[in-house]
Amino acid sequence: MPHIQVLDTHVADLIAAGEVVERPASVVKELMENAIDAGARAVTVEIQNGGMSYLRVTDDGCGIDPLDVETAFLRHATSKIRTEYDLEAIGTLGFRGEALAAIAAVSRVEVLTRQPDRDLGVSLTVEGGVVTGKEEAGGPAGTTMIVRDLFYNTPARLKYMKKDAYEGAAVFANVQREALAHPEVSVNFLRDGKQELLTPGDGALKSAVYAVLGRDLALGLTPVRGSGEEHITVEGFASLPACCRGSRNLQFFFVNGRFIKSRTMMAALEEAYKNQHMVGKFPGCVLHVTTRANAVDVNVH
Ligand code: ADP
Ligand code: MG
Repeated sequence: MPHIQVLDTHVADLIAAGEVVERPASVVKELMENAIDAGARAVTVEIQNGGMSYLRVTDDGCGIDPLDVETAFLRHATSKIRTEYDLEAIGTLGFRGEALAAIAAVSRVEVLTRQPDRDLGVSLTVEGGVVTGKEEAGGPAGTTMIVRDLFYNTPARLKYMKKDAYEGAAVFANVQREALAHPEVSVNFLRDGKQELLTPGDGALKSAVYAVLGRDLALGLTPVRGSGEEHITVEGFASLPACCRGSRNLQFFFVNGRFIKSRTMMAALEEAYKNQHMVGKFPGCVLHVTTRANAVDVNVH
């Protein structure tokens, strides 16, 4: 990856501000997306107490240069864009350079990272946004981020957290979405020491769908594929009419590798079933829409 630099104020000001750390689930989403942007083939997510006391994301990606690791935790520090023109066609999941800074400000973070072509990597600890330690370290190629005691220094936010089971379920939902969004990445999820998901990462959406939704639900889906103007393609799986469900909670839409919630897409999906007897029943789907990067403005919140 290119060097990590702090964006100049002009570019930073053009970026739609987002509240990136609301709960453990949002931390996990940011860290998984960083891992995927780093070219990881395998990502392991482990949480304890719903992610509140302990949350770890390990990848086998490109690692971080020891000279850059502190910069990564500064606001608006990113290796993914440089100028305002880069904002027009973003090819990575991240680009705001805010996540690590925001996470580290409200927790105790430990990062262990080594670039594959180096013998030594580095470990860095940051508490409440302040660097408390840095040393050379060995360890596997790639990056491990450990986040402990989320919101320990912001009692007002801590108060809004729900029970561990609820926070853990929200984490799991985000892990499942990332796994469905990126079938080329093997996603492993452990909750309180127990493995709850492992996708093969063989690149086939079908494999990820089987692992995430389970065999029974997967068998109720049929492959679909289409294309349109502007290089748009739609590919994935949708419910067989007989296998529609009582709710919409099995509808997953992705645009260029990002999970999105879209009324337009929900309506388009349901339109396709309008000749079926669908009273009180809804189709499920896992649909990937792909288009040119510059056809989508991801700089919105
Ligand atoms: P962004 O993803 O928007 O660039 P972040 O704050 O999430 O901002 O990360 C800052 C920078 O730290 C990234 O641009 C990237 O260079 C580096 N980084 C973060 N996580 C990883 C990782 N798992 N592997 C390699 N580099 C990483
Ligand atoms: Mg990021």
